[in-house]
Amino acid sequence: MVMSRLIIVLVNFLSTILLPGKGKSDLPNFVIIFCDDLGYGDIGVYGHPTIRTPNVDRLAFEGQKWTSFYNAASVSTPSRAGLLTGRLPVRSGMCNDTIRVSTPNSLGGLPQSEITIAEQLSKAGYISACIGKWHVGHLPQFLPLNNGFDYFEGLPYANGGMTRKVVNGKVIFDIPLMRGNEEIERPVDQSTLTKRYTEAALKFIEQNAGNHFFLYLAHTMPHVPLSRSHDFVDVSLRGLYGDVVEEIDWSVGEIIKKLKDLGIEKNTLVVFTSDNGPWLTQKLNGGSSGILSGEKGDTYEGGFRVPAVFWWPGTIEPDVIMDAGTTMDLFPTFSVLAGIPMPKDRIYDGYDLSKVICGTGKSGRDIVYYYRGTRVFAIRKGAYKAHFVTKSAYGRDDEKKHDPPLLFNLETDPSEKYDIASQHPDVIEDIEKVLEDHLKTLTPVENQLAKTQRVSIVR
Ligand code: MG
Repeated sequence: MVMSRLIIVLVNFLSTILLPGKGKSDLPNFVIIFCDDLGYGDIGVYGHPTIRTPNVDRLAFEGQKWTSFYNAASVSTPSRAGLLTGRLPVRSGMCNDTIRVSTPNSLGGLPQSEITIAEQLSKAGYISACIGKWHVGHLPQFLPLNNGFDYFEGLPYANGGMTRKVVNGKVIFDIPLMRGNEEIERPVDQSTLTKRYTEAALKFIEQNAGNHFFLYLAHTMPHVPLSRSHDFVDVSLRGLYGDVVEEIDWSVGEIIKKLKDLGIEKNTLVVFTSDNGPWLTQKLNGGSSGILSGEKGDTYEGGFRVPAVFWWPGTIEPDVIMDAGTTMDLFPTFSVLAGIPMPKDRIYDGYDLSKVICGTGKSGRDIVYYYRGTRVFAIRKGAYKAHFVTKSAYGRDDEKKHDPPLLFNLETDPSEKYDIASQHPDVIEDIEKVLEDHLKTLTPVENQLAKTQRVSIVR
């Protein structure tokens, strides 16, 4: 089966080059289920003792459970820009050292010059939907319909933070639900979001079962303010946070059921993952990094490393994958599987993971960069990770430069507890060279997150 899939991939690739518009019937569909702030330890199969996630667990048992899967950043906007473009956000200007994410006052967004996964897949005739949180620019020119997606239903930015308002003594989150470029509800009732996204996703799948499709289902949950539908109130031993994650798990089950009902599950690659680690400062309303140190917003493993399950019955054999992968790798991986050549006019930071998925080889990725804003704070190479700079995720001005860098072996010490820098000067020298070479690949670009409206402060 794996061999036959490889042959199909090869035939698709050749037919795209030689016979444009022909021989594409076996192209896989792609579904990315992207949670928001779901931590490494928040899923049953990743070790959570009191959150029940039977649907995601089943995908992990039937497919690949990745244990070293990362994001391009440990906060939302740059993480999403990385996934969508296959490039580090520093290359698109979608990260900033003080304004860390896009806000309702942002005037910038993902530049038109960037190529999103949806734009790339459209070259092979794919129909694409973004359902859920966008957060890479809310002005019309930056919205999904202007970035290669054929359909959008969701929120333009985060569901909390600067959308918080007090109206008649009541806290509300003034955020619109959008369909296409129009607002359809403001403020959106957040308890309906997971269910509505799921319904929209099921409808999109059903309507496009005869096409090649790409569904980017970017859940708003479990990002605070947490909310779940009536059916999921008090279902979890883990409280509100657990209820919210269990509703997402229900949603995963519905998506899989729909693919099976339509008989297209063997032609669909499903990836379940998260945009960054858990928001620990939210205490009980934040998730868990499990065995990992750190959290959303910092450059320890818990900020960047997330649960990731790849499921594609008939092609993916059940396995636990310990190779490194990142969300930026999805762009080149999908491109290879859909037989679309990579653009040659820009630097890509993603690696093709198709050999790992098809069980025929290793991930090409040996290096992971941990950016905070526009700066590299840490680098992983192989088993080793060097921290050049560390800083608390939020609220503390405690940035610290390390010379020599802190050094951890992530294989023997995944929790980053034991600094072994003094024993491995050669490894540090090697990683310092990686940093030096990497910095040479960067060119200055306009910073998109720095472009914001002047906000008058009411005292
Ligand atoms: Mg997030």
